[in-house]
Amino acid sequence: MEKVELEKELRKIKDEVINCKKCPLYEERIKNGFYPVIGEGNHQARMIFVGEAPGLQEAKTGRPFCGAAGKILDELLELVGIRREEVYITNILKDRPPENRDPQPEEIKACVPYLERQIEIIKPKIICPLGRYSMKFLMEKFGLKDKIEPISKIHGKSFESRTLFQNFVIIPLYHPAVATYNPNMKEILKKDFQILKKFK
Ligand code: URA
Repeated sequence: MEKVELEKELRKIKDEVINCKKCPLYEERIKNGFYPVIGEGNHQARMIFVGEAPGLQEAKTGRPFCGAAGKILDELLELVGIRREEVYITNILKDRPPENRDPQPEEIKACVPYLERQIEIIKPKIICPLGRYSMKFLMEKFGLKDKIEPISKIHGKSFESRTLFQNFVIIPLYHPAVATYNPNMKEILKKDFQILKKFK
């Protein structure tokens, strides 16, 4: 896809998300004066990170991973020499669930078509789900359902997949927020992120 076309398609997604009323999170957004968090980064990125849903800081600013978990993600990227601007970062849900509760199945169902289109447009070669919701959705979507295991088993491993048009790898990673309440997890995340150097 030409760059102009690609920008247009991503812009279209942004406009649709802003007006999306397919789930109750829209009302939460309006009630609280929040922003939807659509995604940020390089629109032709080789690598995409997919988190769960915006937290409070993200919903206040409209930017993914800009709060405590984002600080850890930034640190991990820096550790392996990846600039945040060179990758694309988004989430399964584009709006914040109240009290940061887990995404509900109907919210995921309503919101994932946006993520699917983002992936189709950006065409990354490396897809890194951050956390189990994202891992489950992306591995199912890309024909890896039989490889799904608890994230504690498959974090930091790479799985090859392909669509009709491209080959790519999925690398499930722990959600960086785990390191905010369990410092030991940071070491595991640091180790897991090393695999990304191979795919840069
Ligand atoms: N946690 C997520 O899953 N996504 C964000 O954007 C921020 C925190």
